[in-house]
Amino acid sequence: MTNASVPELPTATKVVIIGGGIAGVATAYFLAKEGIATVVCEKGRVAGEQSSRNWGWVRKQGRDPREIPAAKLSLDIWAGLETDLGSDLGWTRGGISYLAANDKEMQGFERWLEDVQPHQLDSRLLSARETDALLKTDGSKWAGALYTASDGRAEPGKAVPALATGARRLGTVILEGCAVRGIETEAGRISGVVTEKGEIACEAVVCAGGVWSSLFCRSLDITLPQLKVRATACRTTPGPRPFESAVDAGPVAIRPRQDGGFTVAPGTAVAFDIVPDALRFFRDFLPALRGQSGKLRLRLGRPFMEELMRPKRWRPDEVTPFERVRVLDPEPDRAFAEAAFAAAKAQFPHLQGTEIAETWAGAIESTPDAIPVLSEVESLPGFYIATGFSGHGFGFGPAAGRLMADLVSGVTPRVDIAPFHFSRFANGSDLTPYDFT
Ligand SMILES: Cc1cc2nc3c(=O)[nH]c(=O)nc-3n(C[C@H](O)[C@H](O)[C@H](O)COP(=O)(O)OP(=O)(O)OC[C@H]3O[C@@H](n4cnc5c(N)ncnc54)[C@H](O)[C@@H]3O)c2cc1C
Repeated sequence: MTNASVPELPTATKVVIIGGGIAGVATAYFLAKEGIATVVCEKGRVAGEQSSRNWGWVRKQGRDPREIPAAKLSLDIWAGLETDLGSDLGWTRGGISYLAANDKEMQGFERWLEDVQPHQLDSRLLSARETDALLKTDGSKWAGALYTASDGRAEPGKAVPALATGARRLGTVILEGCAVRGIETEAGRISGVVTEKGEIACEAVVCAGGVWSSLFCRSLDITLPQLKVRATACRTTPGPRPFESAVDAGPVAIRPRQDGGFTVAPGTAVAFDIVPDALRFFRDFLPALRGQSGKLRLRLGRPFMEELMRPKRWRPDEVTPFERVRVLDPEPDRAFAEAAFAAAKAQFPHLQGTEIAETWAGAIESTPDAIPVLSEVESLPGFYIATGFSGHGFGFGPAAGRLMADLVSGVTPRVDIAPFHFSRFANGSDLTPYDFT
C-alpha cells in the first residue's frame, strides 16, 4: 500500500479509473493537475501487476512509426517527472541499443530508420567498431547496432508508487483492494461504477485494467481483442558497469539497475499459454502470430481450464474474477531465466562475477496490431479504454496518462491518437503489427 491511511469510498466523483498500473495512475495524475476529481480503483495493489514487473526500458527506438509522436511526448514527460513529483524514479537517459548479429538485422534497423525519418529522432546505426566502443567489448561479436542516446530507463518499483503519491497529493483518491465489478448508466451514458465496496457515481470511466481489460469489457458486451504472454526476468547481484545503455542482444536483454545489478531477460522469447481467448481472437491475431513464430513457446495446460471456467458475466452483488485474483503473479520460468543469464555472461564479461538474485514473471497483454487503445467507446458514451500497451507501456505510460487526461477532459489530445482508436478492431482496419525485422 502506498498510503498509510485507507481512504473511504467516495459516493461521487467526476472520473473513475479502473486499474492502478502506470496507465491508470498517470491518467489520474494528469487529471488531478487539471483539478478534475478522480478515484482510482485497484483490485490489488498499485503497480502490483505489469507495471512493477517490467524491465524499465523507456524508448522511442524500434517503435511502430504511428507511436513515435506519443513516445516522444512520454520521454519529455519522464525527463521532468522526478522534479515534478519531488521523487527519485531511477530515471536515467542511458541510451538503448539493439545489437545486430548480421547484415540482415542491420538492414532491418536501416528500414526502421527510414520509416521514422519524418520524426527526426537521434537514433542511428553504429558500426561493429562503434558498438564495441560503446559496450567496451573486445571485438567483432556484432555486425553493428541501432542506438538511441536519448532513450532511457526508470525503476519500475519506484515510478508508479511515486506517481500515485503525486496524484494523491493533488486530491486523487486511490483505493487499493477495491475491484470494479461493473458500471451504471443513465440514458445510455456512464453514470457510475459498482465496486466490491459500493457504488460511486461518476461521469466517466477509464478502463486501464491491463490484462483484465478485455474481460471487463466483455462483461459490458464490448469486444476488445487482447491476449497475453508470460515473460520471465531476473535481477543480478551488483557488478561492474562498463556501459550505461540498456542492450537488446538477440536472445538476451540487459539493463543496468539503480541498485548496481542488472535486469536480465530472455529477449523476445516468451511463453504463450493457450487459453479460450486465443481461439476467440484467433482471426484478429493471425497476422501477429505469423510474425511471432519461433519466439512464442506454446503451452496447453491449467490456464486453459482456469480461464474456460472463469465467469464472463456476474451480478453486481457477486464476487468477480477480479477479486479472485488480487495480484496476477505468474510462476517464472527458471530455465528461461538461467539460459538468459548464461547467454548474458557469455556476451558481457562484466557479468562474470554476478549471480541471479531474484527471478519473477509477468503477464504482458497485447492487441492484434501491438499498439495501444487510447479511446472513448462510441457505443457507451463516457466509457474510455487505455490498454493494450503490448509490452511497452511502462515507457509509454506517462504519455498514455497525459493523452487520456486530455481526452476525458474534452481537450484535443496534444498528439494524434487516431491510430489508437478502439473502432479499428471492428471497421476492417489492417491489424498487421509493424514489422521491425
Ligand atoms: C516482464 C515484463 C517486461 C516488460 N518490459 C517493459 C519495458 O522494458 N518497457 C516498457 O515500456 N514496458 C515493458 N513491459 C510492459 C509494461 O510493463 C506494461 O505495458 C505496462 O506496465 C502496462 O501498464 P497498465 O497500467 O496498462 O497495466 P498494469 O500495470 O497491468 O495495471 C493494470 C491494473 O489494473 C488492475 N485491475 C484490472 N481489472 C480491475 C478491476 N476490475 N478493478 C480494479 N482493478 C483492476 C490490475 O490489478 C492491475 O494492477 C514489460 C512487462 C513485463 C511483464
